Amino acid sequence: DNAPPPLSTFESANFLPEILKELHHAGFKHPTPIQAQSWPIALAGNDLVAVAKTGSGKTLGYLLPGFIRIKRLRNDPRIGPTVLVLAPTRELATQIEAEVVKFGRSAQISCTCLYGGAPKGPQLKALERGVDIVVATPGRLWDIMEMRRLSLCQVSYLVLDEADRMLDMGFEPEIRRIIKEVPQRHQTLMFTATWPKDVRAIASDLLVRPVQVNIGRVDELVANNAITQNVEVILPSDKLRRVEQILRSQERRAKVLIFCITKRMCDQLANSLVRQFPVSVIHGDKSQNERERVLSYFRSGRSPILIATDIAARGLDIKDIRTVINYDFPTGIEDYVHRIGRTGRAGATGVAYTFFCQKDARFAKDLIKILEVAKQRVPHELRALAL
Ligand code: ADP
Ligand code: MG
Repeated sequence: DNAPPPLSTFESANFLPEILKELHHAGFKHPTPIQAQSWPIALAGNDLVAVAKTGSGKTLGYLLPGFIRIKRLRNDPRIGPTVLVLAPTRELATQIEAEVVKFGRSAQISCTCLYGGAPKGPQLKALERGVDIVVATPGRLWDIMEMRRLSLCQVSYLVLDEADRMLDMGFEPEIRRIIKEVPQRHQTLMFTATWPKDVRAIASDLLVRPVQVNIGRVDELVANNAITQNVEVILPSDKLRRVEQILRSQERRAKVLIFCITKRMCDQLANSLVRQFPVSVIHGDKSQNERERVLSYFRSGRSPILIATDIAARGLDIKDIRTVINYDFPTGIEDYVHRIGRTGRAGATGVAYTFFCQKDARFAKDLIKILEVAKQRVPHELRALAL
């Protein structure tokens, strides 16, 4: 798509020599994948959405281009910050501040951290001295803005870190109010570990033609050799017989999650299986009560086989799923990765069975790539469909 080529070395990003020195000093050899992708986008002034799991090096992914912005603009830090980073919690905000101090010190980048649950006095004092970067939780930042003790009139680089968590914590109103106080012409970078509807909605409201990068999911699977991925090229008419075989081969009470593409398909499959197996169904047409009951039976193992749509499965946090069956191949390759990522968690081993039909051929290439990266067997029928 429209993403510029990633930067494979620190030197190619044209960071300041002081910053390069700090990177080497820290013992960092190469940019992480999220850094390699984010830097050219951020440096070109584009809005960015990055979907990446924690521990992927996002902080420097947005901070270092922010440092460049500060140096280039030479704003007066006593008037207000050039860079604003919003983060969900005090812990996270202070970690980000520590990263600014570590990598920005020799470039003379100043930073302060605003978070709730601590007295405002010292935070206000720090602001008075003037700062290039403010790292803040949305609630406390809004309090301080209401006191008219901070102006965002110089902010041109805005970061929403862990946006999904900020929304989960109910910060959306504050985020929207804060952004109204930032000058119209600013760049926004949004980082999130997941990509649900509410995050997509706020991204489409707040960002302008963002470049999107997705990182970590495939890598996570690579690292996670605990998942055995079986892909079976199959005729639609053979799926039912095959799913029965797989279910029969499971240990009693082992949890199995089966994905179908539509609610109707979920119901149909459940009807076909219910006389032989303890199956239940979860999808968007079920009432809240029903969903909760189904989930608690699944969790407890009373009804260990669950048939679900992608959307219904998204929010499920169920840890000991042994087997995932992709009865229907999903409508996007990311969903494949999400689905099978439901098994093999936290050191457990998992198995994924994927039924792949002629009509799914457009995903064959991407699927082969995922299998190869994860060192899994690629059936030759799948290769044939990729041609
Ligand atoms: P995230 O925000 O994605 O969870 P962090 O930005 O907190 O990840 O980075 C995780 C850890 O990796 C931090 O300790 C950070 O200093 C370190 N780190 C960042 N970039 C690199 C790199 N290029 N090489 C090695 N370690 C790095
Ligand atoms: Mg982070």
